[in-house]
Amino acid sequence: MIAEKMKPYVKNNSAIRMMFEEGNRLRAIYGPENVFDFSLGNPSVPAPDCVRQAIIDLVNEEEPTILHGYMSNAGFEDVRQTIAESLNRRFGTSFAAKNLIMTVGAASGLNVAFKTILNPGEEVIVFAPYFLEYGAYVRNYDGKLVEISPDTATFQPNLKEFEEKVTPKTRAVIVNTPHNPTGVVYSEETIKKLAEILEAKQKEFGTVIYLISDEPYRELAYDGVQVPYLTKYYANTIVGYSYSKSLSLPGERIGYLVIPNEADGSEELIAAAAIANRTIGCVNAPSLIQKVIAKCVDAEVDVAAYDKNRLALYNGLKDLGFECIKPQGAFYLFVKSPVADEKAFCEAGKKYNILMVPGSSFACPGYVRLAYCVSYETIMNSLPQFAKLAEEFGL
Ligand code: PLP
Repeated sequence: MIAEKMKPYVKNNSAIRMMFEEGNRLRAIYGPENVFDFSLGNPSVPAPDCVRQAIIDLVNEEEPTILHGYMSNAGFEDVRQTIAESLNRRFGTSFAAKNLIMTVGAASGLNVAFKTILNPGEEVIVFAPYFLEYGAYVRNYDGKLVEISPDTATFQPNLKEFEEKVTPKTRAVIVNTPHNPTGVVYSEETIKKLAEILEAKQKEFGTVIYLISDEPYRELAYDGVQVPYLTKYYANTIVGYSYSKSLSLPGERIGYLVIPNEADGSEELIAAAAIANRTIGCVNAPSLIQKVIAKCVDAEVDVAAYDKNRLALYNGLKDLGFECIKPQGAFYLFVKSPVADEKAFCEAGKKYNILMVPGSSFACPGYVRLAYCVSYETIMNSLPQFAKLAEEFGL
């Protein structure tokens, strides 16, 4: 009875559901403290107190018909102006309210972007490993996803293959830095090279290629690493941001798109994106939480707590003989499976109550993702279990 387009998603969903149900099954048998569930990217650090206070103040003080009412499809103008000024202060940009469209998290921001720019059959390039939902978002607008194979030595994008795969049909390229699932931050050198290739290809084909920067993890960066702001390197950049991770508000569904004046067709893109926000069914981003964001625009979650987890899990696993690139951002570790079939490795992990996501869920088999947005105790208690797993695989 369901649409053909939905059938593969329904089939795939059962794998994710099974992982979820396996976690519940193990927790019921062994108790939650004895299950080491590294499968979910759900923030473990609470939203900063400023969020709670802002909600209380807004509910007490703001006119309810405004606080809970419709507004422009792009979002409250004062909220967009406040965020634009914060970005300008931090990144030396020159955005104004009109360059921002408030969205229902990064997921709907990306859908708005693709609805705005994609014609059927046009190509969107992604670098493996990548957040698999991108494929669904692109197919929603009948675009075609083109994958670039991973550079497993560094997990920086494979620019040689990229250069070969840009065609006259390429409409957009997605980058995600800090990166899910590897935790890698793309270096300034990488971004400059990527921008150079895009400029050259635009010229060669006489086309416009948008670089979509999906950056929900921008603020989760460690060791003082700089996360380049991409609009400064390539004019046709559209930024997709979300507060799901940076303020631990994934359920509130709030984020924004930035469409800079420098982007080709900027005025038209901005107008179309606001309409896309409405017609994909979001209408506008949730009103109360938009106002909360404006009050907490420079607030941060306790990134040090994630950093502590990062170092404990990374060092712990390295000591046990596992191979893994040291992540500098986000809250994921991408560990090389000791056997080529990483699904078998994930299955084996379950014997020790360890839940991991196979790399094939990110178009990169042979690796597993561990989300370390869990309690520090979970990490410390998981290490003896990982030791047993390492022993089973002869590490
Ligand atoms: N992009 C990446 C790389 C993600 O990891 C996620 C969520 O985990 C999203 C987008 C979607 O985020 P949001 O909750 O803001 O829709």
